[in-house]
Amino acid sequence: MTPAAGPSAAVRPPPKCHACQVNRVAWVKPRVDYCYRCLPGGPFTPPPCTGCGSLDYFSQGRCATCHPGGPQYLSACRDCLSWGVYRRHNWQCWSCRWWSQHYPMGECDYCRRETRIGEQQACRLCLEQSRMLQEPGRALTLAVANEHGQQLFFANMHFQRRRTRRLEPEHRGVGGPPKRNFAPSRWRQLTLFGLEPDPVLVQARALKADSELLTYCKGVVAEHAERFGWSKRQRNDVVRSLRLLQVLQDTPGAMIRATDVAQLPRYDGNIVSTLDVLAAAGLLIDDRPTRIENYFAGKTHLLPPTMRAQLEVWLQVMLAGSDTAPRQRSRDPLTVRIHVMGIAPILHTWAAAGHDSLAEITPDDVRAALPEPGSTVTGPSSGSVPCSPPSRPASSSSSTPPAA
Ligand SMILES: [Zn+2]
Ligand SMILES: [Zn+2]
Ligand SMILES: [Zn+2]
Ligand SMILES: [Zn+2]
Repeated sequence: MTPAAGPSAAVRPPPKCHACQVNRVAWVKPRVDYCYRCLPGGPFTPPPCTGCGSLDYFSQGRCATCHPGGPQYLSACRDCLSWGVYRRHNWQCWSCRWWSQHYPMGECDYCRRETRIGEQQACRLCLEQSRMLQEPGRALTLAVANEHGQQLFFANMHFQRRRTRRLEPEHRGVGGPPKRNFAPSRWRQLTLFGLEPDPVLVQARALKADSELLTYCKGVVAEHAERFGWSKRQRNDVVRSLRLLQVLQDTPGAMIRATDVAQLPRYDGNIVSTLDVLAAAGLLIDDRPTRIENYFAGKTHLLPPTMRAQLEVWLQVMLAGSDTAPRQRSRDPLTVRIHVMGIAPILHTWAAAGHDSLAEITPDDVRAALPEPGSTVTGPSSGSVPCSPPSRPASSSSSTPPAA
């Protein structure tokens, strides 16, 4: 049969003509370093191809179609053995090019060849054979379909045939309908130290990734894709992104943080659609900073670390409220924004005066910082709110008296 490295890989294209560097040399054996046009004493008319009689001379008496090193020379796909692929496509058909980016190398369970292995431990040739013999609506029977060998086929001809036999979404894929339930891990693996993952290794592992979480998510992807009319490519992109996320996860089977999804472009993953799917699957922890958090960070990033940490506690209490004393109702983000806007200049003045922590601020400092006629900034819900929070933000975290 056909060797794995491509049928004509041993026959390299002949070297280029020494003079023009465009055409191939007229002959390799006996060695001639020029093309017929550049031969000393020429130009000469090249002879017709000894294989087909064509006048489109390439090298060694052959045309570009008949010479095994020629650009038009056809051969069999090195993975699925389908006929009709070129050297410039690395002796692969379009489907096998896709497979080589998505599946690992391995031994096929059915034909025992060493090639790319898909999800059912079968190579593409065995998969196509069982698809050919598959009864509509029935599962693939790989072992039975391949027991007497495989029917070879022409390269790149499978797209149309598939369209005529489209199954309903619930019958597609392996292993029946998608899993309806999945319980994410409740525990979390803490990291000992932060290590930047190697993108090449992550991508290689993602090809083999498989888990209950992935199976569940694939079902959600299929439903989502059906509802929003996703292309096959988009669907595959998202499945690949989910595989990458699984490899990057510290805790197998845990819910996935949105900030982890944001790392995906580094590994050629997709962010937006993957977030959609994870949210639909109920597996997303949305830890992306909100607008008010971004605003707060912009206003406080120059403050001393202690002061900033105290203010962060205050911010969280303002946004989420607090049910432990002193109790505090959660505030509208716009109100919080106005508070931040009011206190930021005062905090920067204190920081410039050498204060590192809000614990060092006395009531007199607060009074001195307040403008004479009171604040001019007014919040949406109350009169003049913004100037008292820095007095005891870390402990009381309340700017106005708690309502509860
Ligand atoms: Zn030449
Ligand atoms: Zn020819
Ligand atoms: Zn192929
Ligand atoms: Zn096989």
